[in-house]
Amino acid sequence: MFNLILFGPPGSGKGTQSERLISKYGLKHLSTGDLLRSEIAGQTPLGLAAKSFMDKGQLVPDEVVIEMISSALDNNPQAHGFLFDGFPRTVAQAEALDKLLAQKGTSIAVVLALEVNEDELTKRLLNRGLTSGRSDDRDEGTIRSRHSEYQKKTAAVADHYKKYGKVVFVKGEGDIDEIFQSLCKEIDLRDRA
Ligand code: ADP
Repeated sequence: MFNLILFGPPGSGKGTQSERLISKYGLKHLSTGDLLRSEIAGQTPLGLAAKSFMDKGQLVPDEVVIEMISSALDNNPQAHGFLFDGFPRTVAQAEALDKLLAQKGTSIAVVLALEVNEDELTKRLLNRGLTSGRSDDRDEGTIRSRHSEYQKKTAAVADHYKKYGKVVFVKGEGDIDEIFQSLCKEIDLRDRA
């Protein structure tokens, strides 16, 4: 099994690159943002509870997303590997993920961290807001909250995995294909190992 975390701030290109990576490597894509949005669309109790946090640009409570990921892992026993996108977003989520994977006799192979400067991030999100139908991309205040949540709670996830020498930083600006090639290079170094 080959499991990777695609890491980076909101707007860094995780969704775009995830789509390409899962099709090239046959990984199962687990995006907590997508899972939460589908709970909201289905008007489930979980979705209704999550929506108020997401609309404010705040993180959804750890227990909620950990439980969601735990079920997703159980529901995909045949997966050749997982690509985690938008998860883990707190150190508590990272520790929970490590434990869940260990119970399945596997672990995170690598954390690929996309680096993009903050002005570019805001520009990309506002642009996405024009077409995506995502209300959290339309408001500059909400975007600012998401960046501040990222700095306060999520950046530390990279430090958690640095302890195990698993983090690789990849430039997330420039040509989408070139970024994809840089990510593939890092995966190929490990996938074959
Ligand atoms: P982006 O990375 O562009 O902000 P996502 O789709 O990954 O977009 O996340 C959208 C929102 O969903 C976040 O702002 C947050 O409220 C919620 N969310 C997604 N993943 C998590 C997570 N792992 N923990 C807590 N909240 C999450």
